[in-house]
Amino acid sequence: MPKEVFGPGYAFLADPQVMTLPELIALTRAFVTLGVEKIRLTGGEPLLRADLPEYIRALKTELGVKDVALTTNGWLLEKLGPALRQAGLDRLNVSVDALDPAVAGRMNGQGFDVQRVLRGIDQAAQLGFPLKINCVAQRGVNDSEILPLAEYFRGRGHTLRFIEFMDVGNTNHWEPRAVIPAAELRDTIAAVWPLEPIGPAYRGEVAARYRYRDGRGEIGLISSVTAPFCRDCNRARLSADGKLFTCLFAGAGEDVLACLRAGAGPAELEAFVRRVWAGRTDRYSDERAELRAAGEPRAKVEMSYIGG
Ligand code: SF4
Repeated sequence: MPKEVFGPGYAFLADPQVMTLPELIALTRAFVTLGVEKIRLTGGEPLLRADLPEYIRALKTELGVKDVALTTNGWLLEKLGPALRQAGLDRLNVSVDALDPAVAGRMNGQGFDVQRVLRGIDQAAQLGFPLKINCVAQRGVNDSEILPLAEYFRGRGHTLRFIEFMDVGNTNHWEPRAVIPAAELRDTIAAVWPLEPIGPAYRGEVAARYRYRDGRGEIGLISSVTAPFCRDCNRARLSADGKLFTCLFAGAGEDVLACLRAGAGPAELEAFVRRVWAGRTDRYSDERAELRAAGEPRAKVEMSYIGG
């Protein structure tokens, strides 16, 4: 969330626009009834939601969701890790784009200290969370951090995943030259610590996996720009104000919260979700080059609004 856009004068969502916990649970129930088994809590920053542990508890106990994961910037992880574990959270992804304090501070826009995030990661590991570390690699911004990050997380038991910089939203100043292709990232690391490919852990896994030949763990490469995976994409996204999006690059979502607030019961909510999902034709990443060549008329939602 670039501070020049989302600064003190920015009109953030007012409380009544944000789903309450009972609304969140009711909407999630519709997805679970329709067969969703995996839920990832993203943001913005999900640890800012005060009743998050209660929601996670409801997902695990009331709704019986098999796999509840969370993606966080890690800033509040040290404080909240134990409560998340107690609530039943299964897995964590933490964003770490750089270890160098100056680079990390520039990227988070606030000069925040990455050491605090690393302490949160260590504590989360001690609490028993399986962890993945996400790094969005940008040429000219954090390319100097690729090898230090690989070195730091090798042997720590957490998978470090590099994600190609994407043109999500309208405020991240994306340009093709800033994308470091996954193959280049792999070769950079493999030149120092040889790698070998391993198969996906599950169907539809977005990261290509490689393990270090010396047995010190694995990395993942998410080539969302150079080798899109729209064909296997099965993610629905629900924003904090209850809009259902079927693609990370969508311009607008379907207002499922309005449907609930208008008095819809479980069957109507399920029908709503089923209709939206069945009508889905998204394949933005497959079509990126053509769309951009045509001037890409669509205004896209921001990553901070829709999650990753
Ligand atoms: S561009 Fe849209 S449809 Fe394609 S992988 Fe990304 S979210 Fe899925």
